[in-house]
Amino acid sequence: MRELSDFDEMYQEVIIDHYKNPRNKSKLPNFTDEVMSHNPFCGDEIELQLNIKDNVIIDVSVSGRGCAISQSSGSLLGETIAGKTVIEAKNDNNSMRALLKDENLSEEQFDSLDDSTVIEGVKKFPVRIKCALLSWSALNDILNKY
Ligand code: ZN
Repeated sequence: MRELSDFDEMYQEVIIDHYKNPRNKSKLPNFTDEVMSHNPFCGDEIELQLNIKDNVIIDVSVSGRGCAISQSSGSLLGETIAGKTVIEAKNDNNSMRALLKDENLSEEQFDSLDDSTVIEGVKKFPVRIKCALLSWSALNDILNKY
């Protein structure tokens, strides 16, 4: 995992943990939305399923294959948005993009992203930003319908 060598050690640990033990990987028996995203650059795939009821994301499934950044970012995304409203998840999505553009986030935005902020270090590797945002793009595709 050469791409992780410049990450802070603490961040590396979280990213590797989510890569090796992805959360919310099981497919949902009931879901309202499903999107498959693909990053041709390094062959990453993310399949995102959401179960949205009354504008709240009550269940999340994130699965896929690919590089450590894409897969751990997806796993972290699931934990970040589970239980949130569509509006809150849209805000997180915008915050995540701002974070990777090196824009300043408010404390509230930062807190809302929770552990997903560990992905921030990827901004040092522009070519990897697409990997980090693959799952967030899938989320965008779904939330745009709401
Ligand atoms: Zn990748």
